[in-house]
Amino acid sequence: MSLNQRIYLSPPHMGQEEQQWVQQAFATNWIAPLGPNVDVFEKEIAGYVGASGALALSSGTAAIHLALRLLGVGAGDTVFCSSLTFVASVNPVVYQGAEPVFIDSEPESWNMSPQALERALSEAKRVGKLPKAVVVVNLYGQSADMDPLLDLCDQYGVPVIEDAAESLGATYKGRASGTLGRFGVYSFNGNKIITTSGGGMLVSDDLEALEKARYWATQARDPAPHYEHSEVGFNYRMSNVLAGIGIGQLHVLPERVETRRAIFAAYAEALGSMEGVEFMPEASFGSATRWLTTLTVDPQIARTTSGDIIRALAEANIESRPVWKPMHLQPLFQGCAYYPYQEGHSVSDRLFEQGICLPSGSSLTETEQAKVIEIVKTLVCGGMTHEIA
Ligand SMILES: *Cc1c(COP(=O)(O)O)cnc(C)c1O
Repeated sequence: MSLNQRIYLSPPHMGQEEQQWVQQAFATNWIAPLGPNVDVFEKEIAGYVGASGALALSSGTAAIHLALRLLGVGAGDTVFCSSLTFVASVNPVVYQGAEPVFIDSEPESWNMSPQALERALSEAKRVGKLPKAVVVVNLYGQSADMDPLLDLCDQYGVPVIEDAAESLGATYKGRASGTLGRFGVYSFNGNKIITTSGGGMLVSDDLEALEKARYWATQARDPAPHYEHSEVGFNYRMSNVLAGIGIGQLHVLPERVETRRAIFAAYAEALGSMEGVEFMPEASFGSATRWLTTLTVDPQIARTTSGDIIRALAEANIESRPVWKPMHLQPLFQGCAYYPYQEGHSVSDRLFEQGICLPSGSSLTETEQAKVIEIVKTLVCGGMTHEIA
């Protein structure tokens, strides 16, 4: 073992049961993109979040793609999407030949701003081009303010897909994040709060729609003794081996949430009073998982930048990341429309410029966290807090 072991941003953290479920798949030879582990994982996720049904898929991206298809998104359509997100929220819009329109964040939750969405919807209505869907992203383990967003979308008759890839385990007014829109999407990629190494889940109360998605996800095979196809399909189902990992992981999810919240609390306690440092707020409407501890550093006050901190951490073999670069700033989406928080005032631009994600894995040790804290402290105002500054 090296004395200076790398500290990762959000590494996988297995529990006690995962290997037994995987072993079960081997013992019964269910090494396939279907099988008893897939059925159990779907039932347990649906039960955990309180959705009528769930469909296990090869990725969260696949789940977003199928949700867009279920809503009939196609060439020439527009889809509204949170700008501050990972590109996977939007790529499936492009797969469908549709055009994304980006909506800014609000400062309270860093998620989609209802007032920016309202401007976008009213303008779309005025020009006769309402979106086919709105993809609301729940960032870094926190739900968006779903009630006003859903009210607006209802008013204009536009369905909502909740990209809850980062918010499994979070709540909004007592309900599970990812169950408030027409469709919800979870991801089990390697860096998420629980992982199957790679995988995703589509949840909904619309069981008929989930059946249709299941058909598309298995190459759209029509009922017939031979191979009969009347629609284009995809190979999007989750492996029964990986679903075994997922069942074990789901059983430790509440612990993982608790640990990530404790890690956040320790960072906030140590760094929260430093000049120019602000942690991602937890909005009063719900409970966040704190999947990643994120904060902003105002260079005018802190006399250091997010880039300096990320570089200093990297020198100590510690992985940290800037906050997502907003989609409206990506070369890929040059020319797409964007609705900032207020005219001339973009919130996500600042979050990107000043934001940092700190190592937040549920296996992070106190010693490791202390090392991260020490480095951030020495950079921000030379280590001076409010009290002594
Ligand atoms: C991880 C992630 C996805 C994609 O999930 P995959 O399972 O990696 O395809 C989508 N949206 C957001 C916001 C994510 O963080």
